[in-house]
Amino acid sequence: MDESPLILSGKICPYCGKESELIDSAEIYNGKSYGKMYICRPCDAYVGCHWSSNKALGRLANAELRKYKHEAHNAFDQIWEKHLMGRRKAYTWLSQQLGTKRHLTHIGMFDVDLCKKVIHLSTDYINEHTSK
Ligand SMILES: [Zn+2]
Repeated sequence: MDESPLILSGKICPYCGKESELIDSAEIYNGKSYGKMYICRPCDAYVGCHWSSNKALGRLANAELRKYKHEAHNAFDQIWEKHLMGRRKAYTWLSQQLGTKRHLTHIGMFDVDLCKKVIHLSTDYINEHTSK
């Protein structure tokens, strides 16, 4: 994964290397605002911000990565939603499995390859730890 702080904070587009733009998300979500977001228009890549802040949730994501981030969250979140592990423990487990630094273990910071690994690891874990 790219650990550059400028990329993980959404300031620089990981696809073209140019500076991103800070906009209101209403522009992307048909007038409904979910706060601020960083966007690179030429790359159609964007990322949201933490609630009422200018702090990005991770790196900019294009359509392909947005799809994998969504799938990764769907798979991984089930681990703590099904109470197989607590949420914090699940993130620690994930960082150990992936070999990523704990403070960089957030799906919003991951690339497509890491998201795919999250999906496989989580699905396997859930299948092994839930009875049919
Ligand atoms: Zn770009």
